[in-house]
Amino acid sequence: MTTTEIMRAFRFALDVGPTEAAILRRYATASRCAYNFAHAFFLAHDQMWERGRNALMAAGMDRKEATAKAPKVRRPGRNQAQTFWRATRGQQFVGPLREGDERRPVFAWWEMVNNRAYYTAFEDAAVAWQNHMNSRTGRRAGAMMGQPHFKAQGRCRESFRIVHAVKNPGIRFTGPRRLRIPGGGGQPPFTVRLHQKASRLIRLIDAGTAVITSVTIARHAHRWYASVLCKVHQHIPDQPTRRQRAAGRVGIDLGVKTLLALTDPLTLNPGETPLTLIGNPRHLESTARKLVRAERQMARRRVKGAKQQSKGYYEAKDRVAKLKAQITMRRATTLHLISKRLVQQYDEVALETLHVKGMTGSAKGTVDQPGRNVRAKAGLNRSILDASFGELARQIEYKARWHAVGIARVPTHFASSRLCSNCGWKDTTQTLKDRTFECKECSMVLDRDVNAARNIKKHAVRVR
Ligand SMILES: [Zn+2]
Repeated sequence: MTTTEIMRAFRFALDVGPTEAAILRRYATASRCAYNFAHAFFLAHDQMWERGRNALMAAGMDRKEATAKAPKVRRPGRNQAQTFWRATRGQQFVGPLREGDERRPVFAWWEMVNNRAYYTAFEDAAVAWQNHMNSRTGRRAGAMMGQPHFKAQGRCRESFRIVHAVKNPGIRFTGPRRLRIPGGGGQPPFTVRLHQKASRLIRLIDAGTAVITSVTIARHAHRWYASVLCKVHQHIPDQPTRRQRAAGRVGIDLGVKTLLALTDPLTLNPGETPLTLIGNPRHLESTARKLVRAERQMARRRVKGAKQQSKGYYEAKDRVAKLKAQITMRRATTLHLISKRLVQQYDEVALETLHVKGMTGSAKGTVDQPGRNVRAKAGLNRSILDASFGELARQIEYKARWHAVGIARVPTHFASSRLCSNCGWKDTTQTLKDRTFECKECSMVLDRDVNAARNIKKHAVRVR
């Protein structure tokens, strides 16, 4: 048994009244303004550099050479943004004045919010720029990180983050359902009420096993949530338990008709029948149907080309957002349960290699790799679906570490649903509508997804 320190987020839905909602909105707005302030500051320095390069290009130098030879600009970071902010806030506005205007101070409201909400926003902007710069100069692998944008009101998530200062820790639970957010900048602390009890986390904190690092409060459609990030001392077994070892490897296939198909049964809740096919929970399906209706209504009410839509349209839009958030949250609960049980009951999980790019790309896809769009038409909203494919794989990966569980994968484009898991015969005529796999060679008949899961189990290679 070894102990490691891991970062773990505990998320709670909040019960927010009008007074608290006003406070949370104020914090979120302040955080957004601070982000934009820092972004503008970083952007100005980038534009300074760009002007230097453009001058060289105007003088006849080609782009590559001009980029290499452009005068260096010392790029500011979070601390410089913060210093600049301190010097600017509350100052008299120094722009042109129109008749009747009085000179108002800049960010006159800055004292109405805990300072820490600003600093995390500066940090977020600095990180976004750092990622973009690293990507631009080839120091960062993966997809190109574009230039950060200003956060526009109504188009970005309302959220803010407060960091738990080591010297002055202020985030704490004052009851099983009460989370205290520290004040600052002359503001008193405030308390948010949790929708469910945080007893488990509180026990971990009291025992010294978990230490709060920060809290992010964000609105998803109609609800506010607090995500408490903690440093947790986690005991990690050196090897899987005897029960896990006896169960061995499990192969899983993620699908649409059935959320998950397994080669071996999985017990979701104690006392329940172990399942090899796990469908979407019924309440999720009914919410999904409501979502389809709401989306249709929204589309009907939309006036094409109009800048301002009708009141009915915005009502429908809110409803769509609300249902989407509901589905996401409920689905997250299901996914967490599944990933937890998988790593508790088996010592190795075999799964497909998901390629997120391909999933959002072509709708039709190829015969072996049908586009997710086509498959998704059979069920839930596609964007939610795509997100949960990756999400389940991600959860399995990190939870596997906590239980000494191995991960095995099949290569990308592996035709898991077209091979016979018994004899290896390949079906080349199969369509997406076929729910069962019928082998023409050994005459095996099996659920399509379970057959795929068996192939994944058989052909996966251990990667960790
Ligand atoms: Zn066969």
